[in-house]
Amino acid sequence: MIPMSNVVVIGAGLAGLPAAYELRHLLPQAHTVTLISSEPNFTFIPGLVQVALNFKPLSHVQLDLARLAKRHHLNWIPGKVVKLDPKTRCLRISREAASGEHIEGNPRTDTEIEYDYLVIATGASLALDLVPGLGPHGGYTQSICTPDHALTARQAWVDFLNNPGPIVIGAAPGAGCFGPAYEFALMADHELRRKGLRDQVSITYLTPEPYAGHLGVSNVKHARRLTAELMQEKDITVVENAAITAVDKQAVHLSDGQTYPFKYSMILPSFRGAGFIREVPGLSDEKGFIPILPTQRHPDFPEIYAAGVSAKLAQPDKTQVPIGLPKSGQMAEVMATAVAHNIAVELGAIQDSLKVPTLEALCFAEFGETGIAYIAAPVLPDPKTGKRKRSYAVRGPWVVWVKAAFEEYFMAKMRTGVGLPWFEKLGLRTLFGLKMLKSLSEPLSVTLSDRAAVSQEKTAVNTTHG
Ligand SMILES: Cc1cc2nc3c(=O)[nH]c(=O)nc-3n(C[C@H](O)[C@H](O)[C@H](O)COP(=O)(O)OP(=O)(O)OC[C@H]3O[C@@H](n4cnc5c(N)ncnc54)[C@H](O)[C@@H]3O)c2cc1C
Repeated sequence: MIPMSNVVVIGAGLAGLPAAYELRHLLPQAHTVTLISSEPNFTFIPGLVQVALNFKPLSHVQLDLARLAKRHHLNWIPGKVVKLDPKTRCLRISREAASGEHIEGNPRTDTEIEYDYLVIATGASLALDLVPGLGPHGGYTQSICTPDHALTARQAWVDFLNNPGPIVIGAAPGAGCFGPAYEFALMADHELRRKGLRDQVSITYLTPEPYAGHLGVSNVKHARRLTAELMQEKDITVVENAAITAVDKQAVHLSDGQTYPFKYSMILPSFRGAGFIREVPGLSDEKGFIPILPTQRHPDFPEIYAAGVSAKLAQPDKTQVPIGLPKSGQMAEVMATAVAHNIAVELGAIQDSLKVPTLEALCFAEFGETGIAYIAAPVLPDPKTGKRKRSYAVRGPWVVWVKAAFEEYFMAKMRTGVGLPWFEKLGLRTLFGLKMLKSLSEPLSVTLSDRAAVSQEKTAVNTTHG
């Protein structure tokens, strides 16, 4: 057992905050759990679609991290990690950059801290630069991926309602998170109908997916039919295999020469890992996603774990236009739970086998008065058979109610300092047949210096991890 270790979690989103809470529950008080975030608030990112459409205020999906950290005994450091040195186990944090803004006259106040274990949960860095004209700052399209972008998108939406015209919604090549684009298109449709404006607006959905309803996960039973039917029912034109190459003030341009004029456009970009990750040799792939062993641990830096969007999961499908693999909020939370458990095992705080996230995923997508629940168990099919244990999609208004209830439940959990409780695991198992975590087949006793154990885990690598 290592006395008085400092376990540092970078990022306080859907993976980072539950990871910090689970660690605090599992580790004795002698260990410090440090939480670092570039944003002063926790944001429930799935709620940003509704914020951008002006259905709810941003404050509804945010919580003050300083207050939460104090209440739940976390060592809170607001700031942006700008450098990581895995050899010295040291991080540099830019304190001024907590909101991403440089404050005139304020000297940059960097601070350095050391860690014993590091959990990287920094989510998505938006690759807006890959498509000229993409994004709200310096480009012509909206995004709903960050709180700041959602507020800009909302202002543009309010202006648009006074002067409606064609809408273009979609995702850029390489994107892996499609659910919010469908939600935005279908919720916008619903709102425009409600306001009696729909006949003045055409809606086009441009997607690199090979078919509508793919959502980065192929062959989910009924997903294609249910999604395509809904888009048709709502008179939304779908352009599949669309490779957006540029955007100008008036239109979105595709690689095949087609152009789609818009008055309002929301295009999801592809994602990368955070900048500091990409700067560490051997830490990540070229996009900044961190390779992981089944226990979420880095194969070459045994004290580093990744959870959520930061973790690398390869898209197994070869598609005409490249797409990524979606990493849902639920997947992020389960990865975080596994990370906390495995660090607690390594520190000797609990006696148990190491845990592996099953990546059995459930996603509720809200589409106005109806919704679709997509279930893929697991998200990545068996590499040998190409099959999953179970996968299907179901449509109904109940999805909208469940999604709203889940948001309230998740925010309550984050307020009260709860990660993934037993009753949630039991509920997912009973209602949807989903198992969240499993034991690593050969239990390992791994310590910081136990490289042999790490290589033992490497040989047990679940081939579904890309
Ligand atoms: C618009 C939208 C809607 C979505 N809807 C759904 C949905 O309905 N259902 C679903 O399951 N999933 C949904 N997702 C996916 C879900 O939001 C993600 O899976 C989840 O947020 C990933 O969690 P994360 O912790 O990896 O990243 P995040 O939740 O984004 O958290 C990342 C954190 O890291 C911090 N950070 C970043 N860089 C640094 C740095 N250098 N230093 C310090 N801190 C840093 C950020 O400030 C943030 O706190 C949606 C995604 C989007 C964009």
